Amino acid sequence: MSSDCLFCKILARQIPAKIVHEDAEVFAFEDINPQSPTHVLVCPKKHFASLDHASAGEEASYRAVINTGSEAGQSVFHLHLHLLGGRTFAWPPG
Ligand code: 5GP
Ligand code: ZN
Repeated sequence: MSSDCLFCKILARQIPAKIVHEDAEVFAFEDINPQSPTHVLVCPKKHFASLDHASAGEEASYRAVINTGSEAGQSVFHLHLHLLGGRTFAWPPG
């Protein structure tokens, strides 16, 4: 738990969110500003600031995105995976 982390506060139920999954290792919740019909953030319960700090469906098609660093679009520094589905995705991404 990082006391100043938004996602740690969601896990601790200090900030409301639609939590769609929780187990011993991870939790997942709906993004507050979804970029596709399905947009879920999947986070480890242990606080890692980004993938650099970590050791290691039902949808037919989906895109999994991890923004790492502010220039790549990361705005919340608790490692999380964006799980996007329910529409066709273009390549390259913006
Ligand atoms: P990042 O920009 O770090 O890759 O992704 C952070 C994501 O967190 C964004 O897609 C943003 O919409 C989402 N987010 C920010 N604040 C909240 C919040 O208070 N609740 C929820 N459910 N999502 C949030
Ligand atoms: Zn955190």
